[in-house]
Amino acid sequence: MGRTSKDKRDIFYRLAKEQGWRARSAFKLLQAEETFHFLGGLTRAVDLCAAPGSWSQVLAKHMYEPLPPEERDKVKIIAVDLQGMAPIEGVTQLRADISKESTAEAIIEFFGGEKAQIVVSDGAPDSTGMHDFDAYVQGELLLSALSISTFILETGGTFVSKIYRADRTSRLYTQLKRFFKDVCVFKPSASRNSSIEAFVVARQFFLPEGHKLCNLTNEWHDHPETWVCRKKENPPVVHVPFVAYKGDLDSDRTYDLGEDYVYKDPVQQPLTAAYQDILKKTSQINIKYEGIRVVHDEELLKEWYA
Ligand code: SAM
Repeated sequence: MGRTSKDKRDIFYRLAKEQGWRARSAFKLLQAEETFHFLGGLTRAVDLCAAPGSWSQVLAKHMYEPLPPEERDKVKIIAVDLQGMAPIEGVTQLRADISKESTAEAIIEFFGGEKAQIVVSDGAPDSTGMHDFDAYVQGELLLSALSISTFILETGGTFVSKIYRADRTSRLYTQLKRFFKDVCVFKPSASRNSSIEAFVVARQFFLPEGHKLCNLTNEWHDHPETWVCRKKENPPVVHVPFVAYKGDLDSDRTYDLGEDYVYKDPVQQPLTAAYQDILKKTSQINIKYEGIRVVHDEELLKEWYA
């Protein structure tokens, strides 16, 4: 397959390179903004799980770039990820885990004690190909994003997050409905129809009466009243509206490249990738295959998963 093949098969991949976006996922947030208009006039935004940074680019484009240079320092955008990413003008980076309370504190400090007007999160695990497992981990990331938002989002604020439509989606909606007056599921045309990926656009954040914020540790699994509840009891089923973006371009279609087509390299290669860490660690683990039994160095594995 030539290097132009992906440009043909994936119109949003090609457009991202042509328009200067670091990843095709920029179009998912752009289409959500076009539909719901949540970015106008904002000055404080958080991009969770931000690397390589295309959503941060969208935030900067809507919130920072339209202002005259002398007013731009009013805008505070912070991008949080475990991995590093190349700088973006108008965006401050925080290399941190979104499930840690220290991350919430760092964000509030960044806003000078104020809270964010919007939190966006495109969190996804590195895909294993095991759909149930991937959906479970993505759901956990969504809950972490929602959890940290209860600390850092101002009353009335907006939360936009990736969500995989799978087994426990209804439970996730229930959680979201506890904290937002208005919750909607959105499917951009930049997200393939065959993919279980969708996005929630949750508006008008509020802390429910009696809700107490507590540490972002596993302890709160046992204290659902104080935190976002992940317990397995059956929640009431809630129905949330679903909106699909109708655009001219379809991510499931193949497009001709056209006569004036010129191949472009990706805008920005990732600086680091999670797999680099895994590779480094697996190279230290002594794995021997004995028939179908795998023997590992357990001490190393314990340290790895700690
Ligand atoms: N929105 C990004 C963009 O448009 O360029 C793409 C985000 S990518 C799909 C998912 C990101 O989630 C990865 O960069 C990964 O490092 C990050 N991530 C996963 N778990 C995380 C965690 N616990 N804390 C912070 N970042 C996390």
